[in-house]
Parts: sequence; structure tokens; C-alpha cells
Amino acid sequence: MAEVKNLPNGGYPMHTFADVEDLYYEYISSEHDRKRINQAYEFMLEKHEGQKRMSGEDYAQHLIEVAYILSDLHCGPNTIIAGLLHDTLEDTKTSLEEIVHFFGEDVGMLVESLTKIQRLKLSRMENEEFEAEDHRRIFIGMAKDIRVILIKLADRLHNLRTLGSLSCDRQIALAQESMDVFIPIAHRLGLDKIKSEMQDLCLKYLEPDIYKHITSLLTKKTKTLEKSLDGIKKRIADLLFENHIPFEIESRVKSIYSIYHKMYVLNTPFDEIYDILALRIITDTEIQCYEILGLIHQTYVPIPGRFKDYIAMPKPNLYQSLHTSILGGDGNRYEVQIRTKEMDEVAEVGVAAHWAYKEGNGYNSKQEQQEIENKLHWFRDFVSLSSNAEEGDAKEYVDSLTKDIFEANIYVFTPKGKVIELPSGSTPVDFAYKIHTKVGDTTVGALVNGVMVPLNTVLETGDMVEIKTSKNSTPSEGWLSFVKSSLAKQSIKRFISKKNADQERGEKIQKGKQSLLDSFKDKGIDEEEMVSLLNTKKVLEHFECNSLDDLYVMVYGRKPSPSAVIDYLKIRKPVNQSNDSDATFNFKADSTCPVYCKGADNIAISLANCCTPIPGDEIVGYITRGKGISVHRHDCPNIENEKDRLIDVYWKPNLDKENYPVDLVIQAVDRQKLLLDIMSALANHKIPLTQIHGKVVGNSGKVNFQTTILVPNSKRLTDVINILLNINGVYDIKRATH
Ligand code: MN
Repeated sequence: MAEVKNLPNGGYPMHTFADVEDLYYEYISSEHDRKRINQAYEFMLEKHEGQKRMSGEDYAQHLIEVAYILSDLHCGPNTIIAGLLHDTLEDTKTSLEEIVHFFGEDVGMLVESLTKIQRLKLSRMENEEFEAEDHRRIFIGMAKDIRVILIKLADRLHNLRTLGSLSCDRQIALAQESMDVFIPIAHRLGLDKIKSEMQDLCLKYLEPDIYKHITSLLTKKTKTLEKSLDGIKKRIADLLFENHIPFEIESRVKSIYSIYHKMYVLNTPFDEIYDILALRIITDTEIQCYEILGLIHQTYVPIPGRFKDYIAMPKPNLYQSLHTSILGGDGNRYEVQIRTKEMDEVAEVGVAAHWAYKEGNGYNSKQEQQEIENKLHWFRDFVSLSSNAEEGDAKEYVDSLTKDIFEANIYVFTPKGKVIELPSGSTPVDFAYKIHTKVGDTTVGALVNGVMVPLNTVLETGDMVEIKTSKNSTPSEGWLSFVKSSLAKQSIKRFISKKNADQERGEKIQKGKQSLLDSFKDKGIDEEEMVSLLNTKKVLEHFECNSLDDLYVMVYGRKPSPSAVIDYLKIRKPVNQSNDSDATFNFKADSTCPVYCKGADNIAISLANCCTPIPGDEIVGYITRGKGISVHRHDCPNIENEKDRLIDVYWKPNLDKENYPVDLVIQAVDRQKLLLDIMSALANHKIPLTQIHGKVVGNSGKVNFQTTILVPNSKRLTDVINILLNINGVYDIKRATH
């Protein structure tokens, strides 16, 4: 870019501090604040005295231009001051204490945050790891305060304008970094003016030939179009005038970058880009916007599919406008944007328009930050994602930021009409995690636009999504194969690793306890007694553990060993082992029924078929007419009104060896291979299955399986139910009664 190299200030108009003053005098009237800004200017001049930029200008020029851009955005006094001082810590012998002393804590914090971002050595980035690390630091720094972002964007914009005087390598590195980091954030904040200027400047250095090609094409085309444009402008003006609607009408050439995007990314030949020249109509009220649209559609033929109502549905960066494309009657197409003055301001400077410095009404930067977070949902995600991001994998952080926040481009609704943004390709599971981790973790089904769908269904903009949860349900590892957002991915992985850790601990507890129990039994002490001996503050403190489970885990690791525990408790010799427990159980030795009834050992006793009780269930006996006692679960509906025929019954001890049938109803969202997954899960856990048949419920997409499995007891049954609930699609399991 030889022709730019020697132009002062990159060929851009050079501003003086008086120009900056002209801007902020318009909206900052406090003498005190004006004086502080002036002091910052003097302070900066003194500190940077004698320093030159690569382009040959005084270093101070850069800081004046940054302050100019910030004042143009109507930033507050502290933001302008921090803009003027943003390079003092890094490039001059100024201390943070000095800045805080003269300009206060708030300015000190801003300058410090900016210096931390600055301290990146911008070499040509060679490896992804390093690049991610760098981007992470910039993002984390910017997430601290919205004003840090505004100053950093102003700083970068001016650096891009004056890029011509840097080496080719630095030009490319800075332009690429701007594309990766600063342009996405400017876009998401709705700072459109800054964004498009940055895009054009980056294109100029990253694709110089294409840039030149487009500018020359554009010069030719605009000349031929200008005449017709004047024509249509006049005709629309007449139309609005006749209808007594206030308006301003302007036309503009689309940015070079947006034409580049159409030509080289969307593959549209230059001659087929019809909206190079766009009309913009600005009026007073929202209603008038729609009136104007009506008049234009009545007079000109609208092009189908090009009308967009961003007034009713603002973009996530708060942009509002009506868009349409029309045939102008002169053989040309025109893009027309219609909006109010306020909307126009937001369109140009985005978030800055909403939080432009307001004097006198208790301006408070914390409150301002809070307001921004409430209004821009993605910004809250950005802040929370960044708050713990200094540790951990930089690439993962930058990836999730890029995917979940900067590339989020589908918009779906909650049943209450709240808009949720997700990366494209997202599924109901991504949606559920976006609502809340708890919702994601317990998701069992989803309705999209009122219809039950599989959880891997790809969502589209406009879908209304409702998530069905079940409090005992847990995430399935299989979800990882289809979720799109990093938020969902990370949450599922976190859950699974926690589950594995819990499972591992559970096993250690069990094994540690068993080995203790074995040693205690040798001393004639049973489980109950052992627990009461060990579960005392004194014992737990002695072994430095918080709970009995902790002690079991430690015993599992042989620190302490079971004998060390026994030694500590000074247990010496076995107590007299009485073995009369069996004698009190007076059931028939040959009875095959696992249940007995005291004092009724001659009466036949059997398990009821209706509710299939298994050892561990709470049970009750029912005295049948002539067929002895049938054993039911205590809540079996068949015995509900039979109080006077009920009798207490008990499970026999040590019943772990036999299996008993139990009937289950498994409710699930139907999908391919679901039955196969259920059967193989049971087989993998060695659970015998004696029957299973599925029945589809209407056309709801749900299926119920009637199942009979064999288990030794209710504890094992709980395990089996949890295993089955982990299968993707399964959302509820009930014991059946017939
Ligand atoms: Mn700078």
C-alpha cells in the first residue's frame, strides 16, 4: 500500500484537541468534567512528549483520534479520559498510582485493564494454541467493563486507519486479529459504523487485489446508477410529501466488504448485486415507518422474500428497522430501509446509543454495565463465560465464545415467548442447557411447535420449544454426538465425569466398609454395632475424616487398615456369638415363598401376581378365601379396601440368591433402535428379561413398553431403573399393577 504509506494520519482528516472538545461540549456541560478531560489531555501531552508513531506523527495524535472517536460515540468523561491515557502505563514512565491520584480509581481501573490487553506481543501467530491464548486475554479484559471494549475498539480503529506505515507482517497480523476478535464484538454490540470501517480496512490489507478490483467496479457502477437513484429519491419524496409524512431520505453505497462478501463468499456476480445503492428513509414514529412501507409497496413492486420487520423483531444487537427491496419502475432494484431517528442512531452506534452518557441523573458505571447485561443477553453469557476463564484450556474458551456467542444465529422461543439464541444446528438439548444446566441435565423429551420430537432434532429460527424434564433423569453420553453449543457439551461432559467420580467413590465406600465389616465380624461385632462404634466425632476426628463414608474410603486405601481401626477402638476378644436368630423365625424350611407370617406357618403363602412384590418392598399379607395368604405391595390398589383381611408378613433374611419377577412400564420417546438399546442395557447388566412389548401412544411419538424382568431385591431394581432412565429417550419408569 505504497500510496498510503506517506500520508499523515493514514490519509484521514487529522483532528485537533479542539475538535474533540467541540464534540463533547455538546453533551458534557459540567465544568468539572470538562476540566478533567482537559487535564488528561495536558497530562498525556507531557508524558508522551517527543514520542513519534511509525507514520512520523506525534504519538499524541493517536490519542487525540481515539478521544475523538469516543466523543463521537457520546461516551462519558471517564471513558474519554481513559482513552487519552490508555497508552501511558505501557509506553511512558507513568505509574498506576499517579493516574489514580490525578484521575480517580475508575479511570485507573480502565487504563489498567487496557494495558493488560495491550501487553500482547503481536507476532505473526503461528500456532493455534498461542493465538487462542492471546484472544482469550483480550476477551477477558474486555468482558470486565463495556467501556474497555469501546476504548479498545476506538484504539484499534485508529491503528487500522494508519496501518500503512507498518511492516507487511504486522499489517496482516493486526488485520487478521481484528477480523477474529474486534469485528465480531463490534458487530454484536451493534457498532455498525466502526464494524464496517474496520472490515473495509482489514480487507484492504488481507486481500489487496480484490479490494482494488471492487473499488474500481464500484466507481463505474455508481456513476451509471446515480441518475436513476436521484429519480427514485424524488418520486418517493413526492409520495411521502403528498401523504403528509415527515421524512428524511438518503442514499448510500454499500460497504466494500459487504460487496466482497456477496461476490466471494455468496458467489454472486457483481452485475447481479442489486442493492449496491440503498435508500434510507428516516421518520418520526414507528407507526409512520409502517405507513411509509405501505405507501411504497402500493406504488412499487416489492421483491418477494426481501421484506424483513426488525422493528417487531429486533436483532440481538438491538438493531431495529424495516427492510424491503423494490423494483423502481426504471429497470433497477433498490433496497429500502425505513426507521425512526432513534433506531437510526442505534443502527450506527448500537449499544453506545442506548447508554450514551447522560448527565445529571446519577450516572453510575456499575449500573450502566448491569443495564447492558440485562438488555444484551449474549453479553451476560460473555461475562459469565469469561469470569472463570483464566484457568483451563484457552482454545476451548475461545471456541465456545465464537460458537455460542459470536456465531449464534438461530432464534427460537420459549413457550412464554422469550427469544433464545443458539448456534445453528442446535437441538432441543442445546436449548435446554441454555435455559438452565438443571433443565439440561434432567431433559427427557421436547415439544417443538407442539409436537413431540426426538432430542436430536435440529431447531430452526422461529421454532417454539418446550422441554420435558424428569427430576431423576440424567444426561446421556449419547447427547454428545449431536449437541452443537459448547455450553451443552461442557455441561454434559462435566456431569459424566462427576458421575464417574461418584460411582468410583461409591465403590470405594462399599469395599472399604466390607473389609472393615469382615474384620469386625471376626470380633463378633455386626454391622449395626460397628457403625455405631465408628460414627462418633472422636473416631472421625482421630482419623481426620468428615464422615463415616470418608473413613470407609480411607480404609479402602489401607490408610488406616481395618486392624488399625480395631486397635484404636481397643476391641480385644470376640463377644459371645449367639446364633439363635434363626430360631425366632418360625417359617417352614421347605417353603419356597420368600415371605413368612408369624404364627401362620401352616398356611400356604404366595406372592401376588398383580403387583409382583420383591424383597425389600414394603409388603402386607392378604387372607384369601381358601388359597392362603397372598403377599402384596403395601400400596397395591387391589387391597386398598380390604383392611380387615390384611395381616403382617415379613421377608425372610438373606434373600439375595433368588430372582423374582417384577413388571415395569417404561415410557419413552420413540426412536430407532430404542428397544435394542433397552434390551442390550439389561443384558449388559445381566438382568434377565422374560417379556417386553412396546405400544406406540397415538401419534404422540411416545411409546410404552410392558416389561417383566427378574431381580433379587428392590435395591437392585432401583439400580436397574436408573440404568434404563439413562437410555436416550426413556423418561419414566413405573412398577406395574394389574
Ligand atoms: Mn493505542
